[in-house]
Amino acid sequence: MRFRSSDVAPLRAGNFPIGYNLALSAASPLELFPMGPPPWLHWIERRLPSANLVVLRGRRCVLIDTGCSSDVDDTLGHLRTAGIEPADIDLVVNSHHHSDHVGGNRFFQSQFGLPIAASAIEADAINRRDPDACDAVYLDQPIEPYWVDELLHHDDTIDLGDRALRVLHLPGHSPGNLAFYDPMDEVLVAGDVVHATDVAWVDVARGGRQALETARASVERLCTLPVRWACSGHGPPMDEPAKAFDAAIRRYDQWLGDVKRAAWHGCKRILAFRLMLLPGLPRAQAAEYLLDCPWFAAYSQEVFGVAPQEFVAPLLEEMVRSKAAYWENDRLYATTPFRKPADGWMRGIPWPADWPAGGRTSA
Ligand SMILES: [Zn+2]
Repeated sequence: MRFRSSDVAPLRAGNFPIGYNLALSAASPLELFPMGPPPWLHWIERRLPSANLVVLRGRRCVLIDTGCSSDVDDTLGHLRTAGIEPADIDLVVNSHHHSDHVGGNRFFQSQFGLPIAASAIEADAINRRDPDACDAVYLDQPIEPYWVDELLHHDDTIDLGDRALRVLHLPGHSPGNLAFYDPMDEVLVAGDVVHATDVAWVDVARGGRQALETARASVERLCTLPVRWACSGHGPPMDEPAKAFDAAIRRYDQWLGDVKRAAWHGCKRILAFRLMLLPGLPRAQAAEYLLDCPWFAAYSQEVFGVAPQEFVAPLLEEMVRSKAAYWENDRLYATTPFRKPADGWMRGIPWPADWPAGGRTSA
């Protein structure tokens, strides 16, 4: 499903359905917390393959994203180090459906009974057990089964009891990508819409130029909001969010001038991420592996206009040339530091078409 920039309403800083009023805030946000995140937001930066964790702590406690399936023990450890027990969490919210953000869902849902909220646009495929759910097969990113209990739409609120964050639908990185905005303290939890030091992956193989325009439009919408501090799914937080937004827009503008550059970025990202989970890809199996991946066929044919067989060597060479990966003992490894998955980490059923149907009790 493809989204146009016009599919999303302009963002407004005020006008909250629950009646929050900026004028009621006694002190300015800068007086409240001059540096870093506000006291009600606990932010945990993580190594790949897991996305960062964010815990919103009001009278209710909300966990944003659950990391990768391979990291559930590490996720639990991070929360406990922060003094947060799963029983303290009232709701898990997913920023979007990729495996590095939803991989721990099954663990928290089945072990602790936590309800999961997610973008309505992505939840439907998940709950129907659509083979294409989560882009798991397309990206070759296994995900353990889960069930979405609560559907989130643009302009909904995440209620913390004493504070409410506004749900922003900002497509581009994924069709249903969500960010969460607190108007009282002007804080943004950006999901994978924008990052401090990098630009979000955008799938030009399936979405073409339009996908870049959609992603760019989402960042432009953020520029209309007052944002004092922001964090995202990967990398460090944004102490100067406006600069990060501008940098992302400039990068998208460059890519719009040459979509193949976006495609190189995109396919290297996908392969580097998978190299972390394999981990490493034997040289003798590299061609066979790539030719079996739906994303690889899409990038070869749709963007570069070559048969997949002709794109194997160029991609492997570019992975090494750009230092996204390196060969060691005839295996290709990702260069970015990551947490190596434990043997046998995939404990559930990895592909959505095979996930049990019938509601959350069978997830
Ligand atoms: Zn993502």
